[in-house]
Amino acid sequence: MKNNQLIRNVAVLLVAALICVVAGSAFWEQQQPDVLYTGNPNITGVLKLSDYNANLKGTINDVDIYVFDSGVPGGKAFIYGGTHTNEVGSMLNAVTYLENAKCEAGTIYVMVHANNSGYTHTQPLRGQIGKMTFDLPDGTVREFHVGTRLTNPIHQWPDPNYRFNPSGRELKHDELAEIRNLNRNHPGVQDGYLTEQTCWAIYNFINTEGIDFILDGHEAGAESTTLVNTLVVHENAVPLGSTAVMNCVINNLPMRLEFSGQTSYGLSHRGLGDNTNALCTLFESCNPVMGGYHEKIDEALFKDGISGNYRAMWEAGLFGNNYEIPEEGWPIEKRTAYHMSISKELINAFDTLYPDKPIKVSGLPDANEMIEKGLEYTLKSLG
Ligand SMILES: [Zn+2]
Repeated sequence: MKNNQLIRNVAVLLVAALICVVAGSAFWEQQQPDVLYTGNPNITGVLKLSDYNANLKGTINDVDIYVFDSGVPGGKAFIYGGTHTNEVGSMLNAVTYLENAKCEAGTIYVMVHANNSGYTHTQPLRGQIGKMTFDLPDGTVREFHVGTRLTNPIHQWPDPNYRFNPSGRELKHDELAEIRNLNRNHPGVQDGYLTEQTCWAIYNFINTEGIDFILDGHEAGAESTTLVNTLVVHENAVPLGSTAVMNCVINNLPMRLEFSGQTSYGLSHRGLGDNTNALCTLFESCNPVMGGYHEKIDEALFKDGISGNYRAMWEAGLFGNNYEIPEEGWPIEKRTAYHMSISKELINAFDTLYPDKPIKVSGLPDANEMIEKGLEYTLKSLG
């Protein structure tokens, strides 16, 4: 009898241990960094955010910034993705630059995973997948983690009961978790919370390097009618932004321009636009995952961007005529092509508007070809 009990107890413990190992391996896998392709011969240097805020040294958010210095003095652009780590179009635009760009005049800086901590977890109870994969023509596979919009609590915890930082945004009540949102705390605090430190590193990087303009990439749910396929610009960046948007529209990529709200405290276009000399812009593409009416958040929804719910809402006229929700959805190659195109047109527009600071980029894939053939065609093989 005693032996039977012992066997039963050991069996229960073994089953519990097995469940822990299986569940734990998913968490462990999510902690592993993405392998990026860095074989582009036009990369001239790699900086780290800790070069601009030493407090980040040894932390998950000591992120790489890739430098494309043409050797020809001119304008300086900072293009980055991964502020919100489930808004994958922005990250894959930065990857496209990293893998293909060549700077012909001036300097381009590219950051892929702005809030790297965000990639290490997904939002609890949301049932979201943690990575997306692309099968390349040579038989190899590229994998990219998908996270959530906030810093992981294992890297920054607990949230304060109240926070009023230099962003001007008062964090209290149900907004307290936003202390872990990279796009609510600009220009940051040098020795503050990890997210504030990351913001401050970006702020100091812009000032130290004399960055002329930035593009912070995002994605929004279709019900965000003032944001989808929209370039949001600080008032100082209106000539730059409007020229770029116009050229995208001419290239058959419809989008619109929106002014940064005067009280959009802590967002990059306001917090960095007010506190640095950089012309600050932010682009949002359409990703059904980011809204409140999506279906199950599996890999297909992230990649294909097809949502029957959103299509029905659009057909019912709920989104006006700002953009279409076509039957083929908003696939990742189309969203990435939008980010890539607005980034490129911002560079072209800056070059035209500020001829004393030339900046030119080449080597990027054709946007319409990217949409037609998919990212499997443009992503580089890791061999
Ligand atoms: Zn966002």
